[in-house]
Amino acid sequence: MVIAAHPDDADFGPAATAASWIGQGSVGWLVCCTSGDAGAEDPDTDPLELAALREREQRAAAEVVGYAGVTFLHMPDGALVNDLILREHLVREIRTFKPDAVLATDPETLFYRDRGVNHTDHRAAGYAAVDAVYPAARNPMAFPWLAKQGLAAHRVRRLYLFWSDTATVRIDVTATVDRKLEALRAHASQLKDFDEVEKWTREWTAEVGKEIGVEAAEGFHMVVIDEDDDVDAGGEARAAEAGEAAEAAQAEAAAS
Ligand SMILES: [Zn+2]
Repeated sequence: MVIAAHPDDADFGPAATAASWIGQGSVGWLVCCTSGDAGAEDPDTDPLELAALREREQRAAAEVVGYAGVTFLHMPDGALVNDLILREHLVREIRTFKPDAVLATDPETLFYRDRGVNHTDHRAAGYAAVDAVYPAARNPMAFPWLAKQGLAAHRVRRLYLFWSDTATVRIDVTATVDRKLEALRAHASQLKDFDEVEKWTREWTAEVGKEIGVEAAEGFHMVVIDEDDDVDAGGEARAAEAGEAAEAAQAEAAAS
């Protein structure tokens, strides 16, 4: 499950990873906290029309990535808060969809390596996602009416936080970076110059890819909440290898 603040965040974020995992048999679901109703330059823009347009764009992008569906929580763009209302919505989504992993914005990113400020909604969505995953979704006494209505507690085992300055894992997306770009292209209302977006998306994924010796990768700060005792050991070994390779590449970069 990918939890994002705005339509297009999931596509600028972990779309290639989502497409890759879905291609390998995972089922994906996207939750957008807002519908991006403040995402225009003209103050006379009708926010409801803009929200409807951006939801259409996000649904088209989600189809490219291969999500089974999208939920829009219709929270106000620019005013997202990690409060009990947002968390209850997210717990409802998590308990309905029952994801093993939640991908969300890293809430601790305030500045992007001193080159820009991370939007307040991205931080709020990240904090709310983390707090919904742990402890609320797994605690039947959190929002007890949900469990009483049949939405049983659910344990999410991992968090993958994107747009992180402290990435700990890199996912090889060589095979799906084109799909990420196709998904990004669906957000026409937000793109002034798609060629420019394509250029830096390829540069960025290539830079992360270099850290694990592949053409393109996306980076995450991964948090293991519950160990997987029932997954194949090969997957764990591959993840460990990728982590070691990244560390080695970082050490090399630091040395040079
Ligand atoms: Zn955003």
